[in-house]
Amino acid sequence: MNRRTLLAAALAAPSFVFDSAEAFAHEEGLPLEEDLPVETVDVLVVGGGAGGLSAAVSAARAGAGSVLLIEKAAKIGGDTLISGGFFNAVLPERQRPFGIEDGVDLFVSQVLAAGEEENDPAVVRVLAEASGPALLWLESLGMRFLPEPVEIFGSRFRRSFKPIMSRGLGYIRALSAAAYSAGVAVRTRRAALRFAGDGRGGVVGVVVESPEGKRLVRARRGVVLASGGFGANRGMISRYAPRVASFPIDSRPGSTGEMIVAAAEAGAMLVNMTSVECVPGSREGIPYPIRLDYIPSRMIMVDAAGRRFVEENGPRAEIAAAILAKGPNPCWAIADAATVAAFDAISQKNIYRGLYAGEAFREATPEALARRIGLDREAFTRTLAADPARSRIASPPFWAARMHLRVHSTLGGVRIDDAARVVGSDGEVLERLWACGACTGSVHGRSRIGGNGINTAVVFGRIAGEAAARAERRLF
Ligand SMILES: Cc1cc2nc3c(=O)[nH]c(=O)nc-3n(C[C@H](O)[C@H](O)[C@H](O)COP(=O)(O)OP(=O)(O)OC[C@H]3O[C@@H](n4cnc5c(N)ncnc54)[C@H](O)[C@@H]3O)c2cc1C
Repeated sequence: MNRRTLLAAALAAPSFVFDSAEAFAHEEGLPLEEDLPVETVDVLVVGGGAGGLSAAVSAARAGAGSVLLIEKAAKIGGDTLISGGFFNAVLPERQRPFGIEDGVDLFVSQVLAAGEEENDPAVVRVLAEASGPALLWLESLGMRFLPEPVEIFGSRFRRSFKPIMSRGLGYIRALSAAAYSAGVAVRTRRAALRFAGDGRGGVVGVVVESPEGKRLVRARRGVVLASGGFGANRGMISRYAPRVASFPIDSRPGSTGEMIVAAAEAGAMLVNMTSVECVPGSREGIPYPIRLDYIPSRMIMVDAAGRRFVEENGPRAEIAAAILAKGPNPCWAIADAATVAAFDAISQKNIYRGLYAGEAFREATPEALARRIGLDREAFTRTLAADPARSRIASPPFWAARMHLRVHSTLGGVRIDDAARVVGSDGEVLERLWACGACTGSVHGRSRIGGNGINTAVVFGRIAGEAAARAERRLF
């Protein structure tokens, strides 16, 4: 296929296609990398977060043979490890006892609406259908969740299951133990640099750099890309979302997206690259989140004048846009003592750290709080009186934290189909290349439902790993 055909295919493709995917496409095919030392495995997984580990465990358990997972950092975990750990799953039998009526169709419609239909409906449906089984699978590996699902910031519904072990640690523990038992080889400090071709347009493996040098790792059955997002790559953020390029970053340093670019160079289509998710957190230089919006139905967001300016449980992109529209004027998250008491221990600790650092404020009355943070007292009092859910801000003392937007995660990446296969710029799948998690761009569209990061990684990681294990074994 020549460059003109690729360009025509990209232009004719659906509206969610990122407009310059064709710019990366190689006319000549992938390099052969003939001069490098070669290692051969059956399945190669790139990235050691929830997605990569799920893929590796699934491939090994499905009888793939030798499965190698490479991770460029010194330790596995990725953004999964520092995440809040919330996992959205449709599990009616666990939701009904708490008065929650849920279903796959409802979940699909909410994800598509939040994503402004820039997401792929077939892929979203797979996520919704497989979210419950994925949670049960994690439990079968030793992961434990609290029984009651909750609504978290931007999740729009009570289907977020919270792990008992703090943040993302439980996932990485359970999945890495399962990987070890299944015989997966996990190697850290191994960075994938680019894909290598078989000379006929197909992916044969990946060029990997380690402290010992470069080598070509060939994969007899195929490669699963699970290298996360590009939230920590200022250059890519400047390119795709220049308006937020100077914002503080939530991702870990490994989220640099070079393998998303490498996949595009190998012919993959990139989608939704401009969807960069920003959420409120602490200002630059404060390494811990100071947030009062964890339970959106129990707090309010006010502008500098003390007025509510956005629906607190609306889509994340809407809230970020509303804050951005206020320019340099501060926006505040306000919550009462009962709400703060309902947060988990780490979130509470961070709010108290913020209080003692002068970044969060606490006063006995709403009026005193308004005075302290410079709100118009009368307007703020009117806002509280007019709040349709008045009980939200009722029990003293009252808290305020300024909402500084931060780059939280990136929603764009390689296009996948409903079987986690990477789709090329010409609309055809790339043989023997699967992808899962935050390096993919087909799930969230314009705005991610809160709690839809780890489930996306695990659901499509499982599908990718099992598919790679089933692929015919090439003889090199
Ligand atoms: C602060 C924070 C809180 C969050 N909270 C939640 C939450 O509560 N619930 C939720 O669902 N989602 C949450 N998310 C999003 C969620 O963490 C991610 O969507 C999810 O963890 C992605 O998993 P992954 O396996 O795709 O990527 P990661 O977990 O990021 O793993 C990718 C790995 O690939 C490695 N890698 C990258 N490039 C290479 C390379 N070239 N070669 C080798 N290895 C490479 C990286 O170092 C990394 O270890 C949160 C994100 C952040 C930043």
